[in-house]
Parts: sequence; C-alpha cells; structure tokens
Amino acid sequence: MRIDLHAHSNVSDGTETPAVVMQAAAAAKLDAIALTDHDSTDGWAQASEAALVAGVAFVPGIEISCRTAKGISVHLLSYLHDPAHPGLLEEITKAKDARLTRAEHMVTLLAEDYPLTWDDVIHHVAPGATLGRPHIADALVAAGVVSDRSEAFSSILTSRSRYFVQHYAPDPAVAVELVRAAGGVPVFAHPVASARGRIVGEQTYQEMIDAGLAGLEIEHRDNPEEGRRFLRRLAERHDLLVTGSSDYHGTGKPNLLGENLTAPEVLVRIEEMGTGCTVVRT
Ligand code: AMP
Ligand code: FE
Ligand code: FE
Ligand code: ZN
Repeated sequence: MRIDLHAHSNVSDGTETPAVVMQAAAAAKLDAIALTDHDSTDGWAQASEAALVAGVAFVPGIEISCRTAKGISVHLLSYLHDPAHPGLLEEITKAKDARLTRAEHMVTLLAEDYPLTWDDVIHHVAPGATLGRPHIADALVAAGVVSDRSEAFSSILTSRSRYFVQHYAPDPAVAVELVRAAGGVPVFAHPVASARGRIVGEQTYQEMIDAGLAGLEIEHRDNPEEGRRFLRRLAERHDLLVTGSSDYHGTGKPNLLGENLTAPEVLVRIEEMGTGCTVVRT
C-alpha cells in the first residue's frame, strides 16, 4: 500500500487542479492520497469525483497555518474533519481573508523595488484560491526577477526578508482543539523544518499534545535527520501517529508524489479517529 497524506492543488498554492492531482496520484501508483490545501477545503468535491474515476482513495484534509505567541510558524494538518464545523470554519476563513490583505501589503513593498503589480500576482491565482507567497513568487518569475519559486523563497520572499509581512493565524494548540471539535485528526506538519524559519520548542509540543494532537509528520523532506530522531522519540513517548508525505505542489516545488509514504495501519488509525467525514474509495 502506497499512501501519501500531504498534497496541494491550485485551491491553494499547488499548480494543478484537484482533479489533476488525483490523476497524478493514480499515475504515481498511490493507493491513497490526501488533499491538504492551505486554509481551504474547497477542493474536496472535485477531488472526490476525480479520485473515484482515477481509482485512488481520497483522504479529505487541510493544512492550517498557525503561529505561536513567540511568532513561530506552525503548519497543522487535519484529516477527516467536518468542513462545515462553525468554529473551525471561522478560523480558517479569518486566516484566508487576512492572507489577501497581507499579500497586497507585500506587493506594495515589493513594487518599490521590482516590476510587480497586484494584477501580475492575481494572474497566477485560481478564482477563490488561498493566496500565498508562492503566487507572488510566480509573478516575480514571470517578470524575470527570479528563475523559479525556490529562488524567490531563498531571497526576496523568505520570512527574514524586508518584504515579508505576517498574516493572522491561530495559535497551534487552539487549532488542534478546533480540529478535534470538528471530528478531525490533527497532525503536526514538517515540525522541524528549520530551513523555513524558527522551529518550536518543548512547550509548544506539550500544549499541542495536551490539546489533542494525534500525530507527527516525520518523513518529510524538510525535516533534517537529527530532528526526525527527536520526533520519533516524542512520538513513542506520547503514543502519537507517525506519517510520511510528499507535500506535493505540482510544478511549484521539486517534491514528488509518493516520495515519502505513510504506513497502512496509520491510515486505519486515522480513519478510526476521524468522525467529521470519511475516506472516499471505490
Ligand atoms: P505563505 O503561506 O504565504 O506564508 O507561503 C508559504 C508557502 O510557500 C508554503 O506553504 C510552501 O508550500 C511554499 N514554499 C515555501 N518554501 C518554498 C520553496 N523554497 N519553493 C517553493 N515553495 C515554497
Ligand atoms: Fe504550500
Ligand atoms: Fe506546510
Ligand atoms: Zn503543505
């Protein structure tokens, strides 16, 4: 069984439609694929239909952008939650709306130094999609400023850049509680991805675990080996699920579907725990 529990479509910052992601998952010989767009579940309906046709099991998911009181970014995956749960929906909508204002602010700052307009950015965003820095990166690529998203993220768009602006994001422990309340299974995405920015310490793990964290995404290309050893010990100590995933973004990142996998028994546990909706399979 080949199971990949983290992929993005153009409902957020992936480059392919949810249907194409499902077809790509089948082509990559996956048995199950989760769609985990940033702060949106708008891709679920299209993904369900396409997954049935393509013959791959579809795991409904989301990746929620969070931030600790210390200002450290945390990405929280949720599987099988009720997408209409009011509390969770409110938080996600608030974050998604704040991303729009934030992107406008970043573009205003960038336009002082680079040939970039708001229209150039919007050109790369599917209608209703969650806006992110990758879309600004696409506009910078089109303007010839950088050669790809990775180059944009290693210079102009890093969280340490003078053009970087934060957006509203819930506290990670609060998000874990909301996911649980919505019947979802909360999994900490790429917890030790130190190249992206600062990573959280013991206290945040403890708060998230106390709030009902179910698992850790350990097998992910952005987690360095030393961090993975720390996470494996943590998972053992607190009986947390361990997942492995690609974080596929279409052509927006080098990450390939199926480059990391999750054990079948872990998906079984997720299906036992998740009560907000179900895996879609033929
Ligand atoms: P944002 O959510 O707007 O803060 O942007 C962060 C998103 O950018 C993450 O979800 C990543 O998928 C994406 N990202 C981060 N680093 C890179 C990179 N080096 N190349 C392409 N995309 C990246
Ligand atoms: Fe992304
Ligand atoms: Fe992430
Ligand atoms: Zn992701």
